[in-house]
Amino acid sequence: MLIVMTVGATPRQVEGVMEHVKALGLKPHPIPGAQRVAIGITGNQGAVEPALFENLPGVLEVIPVSHPYKLVSREVKPENSVVVVGGVPIGGDNFAVIAGPCSVETAEQTLTIARAVRSAGAQILRGGAFKPRTSPYAFQGLGEPGLAILRDVGLEVRMPVVSEALDERSLDLVIEYCDMIQIGARNMQNYSLLRTAGRLQKPVLLKRGMAATVEELLMAAEYVLAEGNYQVVLCERGIRTFADHTRNTLDLAAVVAVQRLSHLPIIVDPSHATGKRHKVVPLARAGAAVGADGLMVEVHHEPAQALSDASQAILPSELAQLMQQLPALLPLTGRHMAQPLRLSA
Ligand code: PEP
Ligand code: MN
Repeated sequence: MLIVMTVGATPRQVEGVMEHVKALGLKPHPIPGAQRVAIGITGNQGAVEPALFENLPGVLEVIPVSHPYKLVSREVKPENSVVVVGGVPIGGDNFAVIAGPCSVETAEQTLTIARAVRSAGAQILRGGAFKPRTSPYAFQGLGEPGLAILRDVGLEVRMPVVSEALDERSLDLVIEYCDMIQIGARNMQNYSLLRTAGRLQKPVLLKRGMAATVEELLMAAEYVLAEGNYQVVLCERGIRTFADHTRNTLDLAAVVAVQRLSHLPIIVDPSHATGKRHKVVPLARAGAAVGADGLMVEVHHEPAQALSDASQAILPSELAQLMQQLPALLPLTGRHMAQPLRLSA
């Protein structure tokens, strides 16, 4: 259910409607638009009677939302959302590139890669400290010391940083050290983690589960928004199919599908999607051409030595080449490279 206020509705009228919603035991979510304010309602188990709100002062119309997700839906918010990560805008017409190693391994490795991705033109630095590995015997990440390295390197190269939280315990640490919380494919339907991230005021990068439909991805994002955190960026990172020429199958149609249904930004991760270095750059270009709002790319200066995802890390020189090619593609979909909103100290 969406309550659309008139163009001239006063803040007091908006407040009055919000109070009315709360008095009914429901949760109001004010959504400021270019023209007017809308108020999304969650917390109802069944349909809500529009007549309850239609005659309140300042209300223009009451629209039932036809999708199971509400707050992430374009019906509720027609304009594209822009999520700002440490001063870097993602979404709208801003195309942002997140790059860095799969895992933080050492301070030296992270700084070397960070300098390279920064000079290539990437805006946000990634690096995993809590790694979801298929094998319990594989490198699991450095944990908190890894986050400290990532934060220090981010400050040194003046880039905001993103890292994955695997559970509530690591989430507590990630929010302390990072500008953005990554929730990975394996946790896309970890509803308690999504709810906890929803209670924070930090941008969330939510990756599509490897067997999740677009609707399931949007419902997962809805968990975060329903708790009050509207700063969600979605990520298409490939899904499991019968194909064995790539690690996963990059589903670029999902980008188009999501953009039709939702106002949230969506980026493409060609690294986990393909699993092979030589496929990463071509599919990164495809992601930009299809109209994604950004990319997430794994980069390593010595890929053969990488402690995780060695076969998909591209070299810094390959990232630099990609970054030079992107400006030719972005205008096709009305986008441009994101510029930091403010220079960090
Ligand atoms: C990652 O980004 O390092 C990662 C583990 O990705 P995904 O959750 O998409 O597998
Ligand atoms: Mn990885």
